[in-house]
Amino acid sequence: MLVFFIIQNQVIMNEKRKIAFCTLGCKLNFSETSTLARKFLENDFIRVPACQIADVYVVNTCSVTENADKKCRQLLRKIIKQAPNAIIVATGCYAQLKPEELAAIEGVDIVAGADMKGNIFEYVNSISEKRKAKIFSCEINETKSFFKAFSIGDRTRSFLKVQDGCDYNCAYCTIPMARGKSRNISIEEICNEAEIIADSGVKEIIITGINTGDFGKTTGENFLDLLKNLENVEGIERYRISSIEPNLLTDEIIDFVRVSSKFLPHFHIPLQSGCDKILALMRRRYNTKFFRQRINHIFKLIPDAFTGIDVIVGFPTETDEDFNATYNFLQEINPAFLHIFPYSDRANTVTSTMKGKIANSIKTERAGKLKTLCQTLHSEFYRRNMLKTVNVLFENSVHGDMMCGFSENYIKVEIPYQKELTGKIMKVEITGIAENGNATGKLII
Ligand code: SF4
Repeated sequence: MLVFFIIQNQVIMNEKRKIAFCTLGCKLNFSETSTLARKFLENDFIRVPACQIADVYVVNTCSVTENADKKCRQLLRKIIKQAPNAIIVATGCYAQLKPEELAAIEGVDIVAGADMKGNIFEYVNSISEKRKAKIFSCEINETKSFFKAFSIGDRTRSFLKVQDGCDYNCAYCTIPMARGKSRNISIEEICNEAEIIADSGVKEIIITGINTGDFGKTTGENFLDLLKNLENVEGIERYRISSIEPNLLTDEIIDFVRVSSKFLPHFHIPLQSGCDKILALMRRRYNTKFFRQRINHIFKLIPDAFTGIDVIVGFPTETDEDFNATYNFLQEINPAFLHIFPYSDRANTVTSTMKGKIANSIKTERAGKLKTLCQTLHSEFYRRNMLKTVNVLFENSVHGDMMCGFSENYIKVEIPYQKELTGKIMKVEITGIAENGNATGKLII
C-alpha cells in the first residue's frame, strides 16, 4: 500500500496533484477555503472531494464551541486513516488557538495560523513527503495580515470577505484571539473583487466578515459607504449582508436597504439573550430595549424583511426566569428564524472561570424549546408571504425533480426543475408549503 502511494505520488508530481478541502464553521472560512483552492487549481492541482484519495488535504478548522473542536479532530483522523501518505494541512481558528493540539495528531503535517493562510500553497508545494508536524504563525493575538477572500461555488452566489477580526470583548468569545483585531481592505479593493465575481457570472454576493458592520477601521472608511459603492458594481444584481451587530446596524443602513435596488431585505442579527442581566454579563453592547428598537425600525420600513436571530442558551447563571425572558422576547420581536447555540466553555475567556455553569441537560432542554419556537416562527413567516410575488434566484442543485432558489426575503422556493432557469432570477408567486418545509411557487412569465 505504502509503495503504491509513493509511486503514485511520484507519477502525479509530474502531472496534476490531487487536493481536497474540508471547511468547518462560518461563511468566512468558506470564502477563505475557496480562495485557497483557486490558488492550488491555478497551479497544476486538481480538486477532488474529501472522500476520495488525494495527495494533499487542507482542513479549515473552526473553534467556536467544544463540539466544533471535536469535529475537527475527528475529521483529521478520518482523513489520515483514509490517505495515510497524503500531506495534511490544518488551518483556521482551531489551528490558530491550539496549534499544539492539532500538531499532536499523528499524521498532521502543517498547522498554519491565520497569518500563514496566504502562504499555504507555497509551503505545500515545497514539500513532497510527509514530515513531523510543523506549526506556523500561530502566536495568539498576533494576527495582523488580511487574507483577501471570496468564494465562487455554483455560480449563483458568492461570499465576499470585507472585514476580519474583532475589537469587541464579549465575555464568552474566543474569536478575537483566533482572528486578531478588526481590520479591512479598502472599498476600492473590495469593489474590484466584486467585479471579478461578477465576471464569473455570479449574481448574488453575501458580504461577510467577523464583525462586518465594524468595517472601515483600517482605511478610515465606513460600512454604509461600502454598501453604496458595491451597489454600483455592474453585473451583481443582489447583495445580502451577513451577520451584523445590532449596535452597528444603524437607521441609515436600514434606510439604505429599503431604497436600494440590490441590497435585499434580509437581516441576520446576533441577540444572544433576551434578558438584560445576561446581556450585561455577556458584555454585549446593547440591551433588549435597544434591540427592540432596531427590529421595530426594520419592520416599520420593510414589513416583509427576513430577520434571523442568533441566541445562546445556558449561559452561566442563566435561570429559568432568565431563559423565559429570552423566550418571551423572541416571541415578541417575531423573527423569521433562530440560530440556536448552547453555551460552550472556551479556554481563556472571561466566562470560562465564571461560577454558575448550567448542566448540559438544561441547555439541551432550553435549546429544544427554542427550536420548536423557531419552527413556529419560520412557518408563520412563510404563511405571511403566501400568494405574494417574489423574485427567486434559482440554484444549480436538483432535488428529485424540483429545483430551489431564494426570494429577496430568503424564502426557499421550489418549482419543477427546468435546467435553463439555473442562475436566473425569476418572478414567482408563492402558492403553498411543501412537506419538506420549502415554499412552493408558480412561475410568472
Ligand atoms: S462581536 Fe463579540 S461574539 Fe462577535 S466576534 Fe466579536 S467578541 Fe466575538
